[in-house]
Amino acid sequence: MIPTTFEELALAAPIKRALAEQNYTTPSPIQAQSIPILLEGKDLLGIAQTGTGKTAAFSLPILNALHEKPKRPARRSTRVLVLTPTRELATQISQSFDAYGKGIRFSKTLIFGGVGKNPQIRAMKNGVDILVACPGRLLDHMNEGDVDLSGVEYFILDEVDRMLDMGFLRDVKKIVAALPPKKQSLFFSATLAPSIKDLANKILNNPAHVSIEPKRTTAEKVDQRVCFIDKEAKKDLLLQHLEEQRNKGLTIIFSRTKHGANKLCKSINSAGFEAEAIHGNRSQPQRERTLDKFKSGRLPILVATDVAARGVDVKDVTLVINLDLPNEAEAYVHRIGRTGRADASGSAVSYCSPEEHEFFIDIEKLIQKKLPVDLDHPYHHEELADLHSRGLKSHLSTRDNGSNRGGGRRGGNSGGGANRRRGGGGSGASHGRPPSRGRVSDGSTGRRRRR
Ligand code: AMP
Repeated sequence: MIPTTFEELALAAPIKRALAEQNYTTPSPIQAQSIPILLEGKDLLGIAQTGTGKTAAFSLPILNALHEKPKRPARRSTRVLVLTPTRELATQISQSFDAYGKGIRFSKTLIFGGVGKNPQIRAMKNGVDILVACPGRLLDHMNEGDVDLSGVEYFILDEVDRMLDMGFLRDVKKIVAALPPKKQSLFFSATLAPSIKDLANKILNNPAHVSIEPKRTTAEKVDQRVCFIDKEAKKDLLLQHLEEQRNKGLTIIFSRTKHGANKLCKSINSAGFEAEAIHGNRSQPQRERTLDKFKSGRLPILVATDVAARGVDVKDVTLVINLDLPNEAEAYVHRIGRTGRADASGSAVSYCSPEEHEFFIDIEKLIQKKLPVDLDHPYHHEELADLHSRGLKSHLSTRDNGSNRGGGRRGGNSGGGANRRRGGGGSGASHGRPPSRGRVSDGSTGRRRRR
């Protein structure tokens, strides 16, 4: 039977008390399904997106095991290893262990790059119960003999799809090779592409499968739409959307490059909006300061790159704006997963220029649905919308052609800016309506004609 309350789960009393303090009453589906399996000591393959509560799904049974079987860890070793792709996510997982394990004795440390190595070496010297780490820096420490994984009893590989996207496959394999054969392994990924399945088969031993979101679907709770637009007009539309969003909750704007994120931040600041950027070029303390401000509501707008935003768990994000479309469709699912977390609902609006059209086609293919087109914004790119509705691709769109890369874009079937933009008009989104009647695009010549 699937438990419907935390009381029904065989978790130690201090853990249940901590959950009550967090005001958690009902286990989320991944928790209800995974926790009993994990308490039995089985391996687990969990297909779940961010926001489903998977951190508690793995940390509660682990904390329970540490509580029931306390043991002094060996020097430089750890009993639990959680491997996760980004430092933000690592920090967040570590905070979850602290929150849920408030009444339990355990030691824990974090290992990731971008900060000094020596404090990490010192923290590992006498061994820890829990190590939360990112692959690159962990491997450095292993190679230098500062971390020994031969005592790992519980191994959690989190956000595997992202880990592979970020090029960590080789590092992960080396780390896995250093683990002892006898351990309990947990493997979480939002999707199960063939390369992920292969890795899971290598790591897991007769695992139980738990799948929360059906494979490759977008969070249902997120109200999504696309604005077809010239890239030159994106900034104007952004300011309009930010104005409409004032005092309505937190906003994350995604930019594909670090440089783009910085530039964008400056320009929206100068338009009178308070925004800060997080990306890989900012130092860890800077990123943490910005995230803290955002989480506490003191900063209404966060500009982020995909990598930096991984692990950002903020409850009140009500709007995600994809100023640039990601060149990997799966990143779209992660981006919009920043809103609509837990029980909240949210919106995601994506700006698609002719240059990015192929990325958008990939996204719709992946999520297996057509996104409603916002027809009412003043910069609506009718020709692109028309091409898209007829299943044609803008000739300006190629996979190595991003919205940030400039390049000739005039002429042809998506050329010319202002002549395709709609003059004035309302601003609210009009979801799912067909392109405005009477104006169509001739896909072959790109000229507009009246029907
Ligand atoms: P995660 O998918 O682990 O990143 O969790 C998403 C969010 O849901 C986090 O803010 C958690 O604090 C919250 N959360 C997780 N489990 C529960 C629960 N059972 N009840 C209420 N909130 C939860």
